[in-house]
Amino acid sequence: MKDLDYLREQCISEVAGLGIALGRIASWSVNKRAKTRWGLCRLKRDGSYEIEIAERLLVDDRISEKACKETIIHELLHTCKGCMRHTGKWKQYAELMNRTYGYNIKRVTEGCEKGVENHKVSEMAVKYVFTCGGCGATIYRKRDSKFTRNYRHYGCAKCGAVAWSRKLIRNCTSEVASYIITDKQ
Ligand SMILES: [Zn+2]
Ligand SMILES: [Zn+2]
Repeated sequence: MKDLDYLREQCISEVAGLGIALGRIASWSVNKRAKTRWGLCRLKRDGSYEIEIAERLLVDDRISEKACKETIIHELLHTCKGCMRHTGKWKQYAELMNRTYGYNIKRVTEGCEKGVENHKVSEMAVKYVFTCGGCGATIYRKRDSKFTRNYRHYGCAKCGAVAWSRKLIRNCTSEVASYIITDKQ
């Protein structure tokens, strides 16, 4: 079991060591159920960020600390100004981290590169992200269903609000660390 607090402090100081300014990170969480991605960075409406790391990165001993830090840094870099996408500045910073510290931070990282078996593309793909307008809870759906079609009529299990907003994720197959903006339209 890796120590997330310890690893993320290392990552933050390595990023800061290169003069890269991070955004304000309001919270970190460990996702026990994430099978579709290694990490996630959400921009909240107040301009702060929420970073989520897949639990299996921490508990699977076949995955090295370095591989785990690559995901943490991948997500950290999304909090930098102008780094919403995996292009431009985000890419520059990732390349700089790779050159300086010997990382292999990429847009998409396959399971085999982390030292674990790969998940099939069909298992990896998240098609929709629903965000509750009441409490901000998010749910992910891989395929069309009664819920994805009629979500306007479903209440949130957490807060009861009937206020889902739906976001269609494109090109997300095997995108293990995708960037999702959870603003509500
Ligand atoms: Zn809710
Ligand atoms: Zn990303």
